[in-house]
Amino acid sequence: MDIQNLIDNTFKKYGLKKTIFRKELFKLFYDSLNSLSAKEISKQFSSSTDKASIYRALDSFEKSGLIHQVPDKNNLLRYSLCKSECKPNNHAHDHAHFLCSVCEETFCLDDFKLPSAKSHNGFLINHLKIIMEGTCVRCKSI
Ligand SMILES: [Zn+2]
Ligand SMILES: [Zn+2]
Ligand SMILES: [Zn+2]
Repeated sequence: MDIQNLIDNTFKKYGLKKTIFRKELFKLFYDSLNSLSAKEISKQFSSSTDKASIYRALDSFEKSGLIHQVPDKNNLLRYSLCKSECKPNNHAHDHAHFLCSVCEETFCLDDFKLPSAKSHNGFLINHLKIIMEGTCVRCKSI
């Protein structure tokens, strides 16, 4: 499937408004191998795109279940594309996140097996958030 078709289908599926800017933003996430911070995103667009519309688009992408916020070492707003089927206001994945202390990038570890316990000593577990820190594959090989 070419990228234009993919964008059309995705936007239709998630009920997103199709503007040139939003299509470009989606493409950016699609092309990036891992996460993007709001700062990195705004660098990709010309100065004519104001920050407010970038934040608005990110917010609506997130609410639609297209991207999710990931932890960031510097507390920046950082997002990754959802790889599983997420629905509006209901992100279906519980996966671990890995923070690289060298390049400060955040990675989604979709295949990391999370503990399956639903409760512990009477505490009910609704969400599991696992954040690991270390050196990513790329930085390890430098
Ligand atoms: Zn999601
Ligand atoms: Zn790294
Ligand atoms: Zn993630």
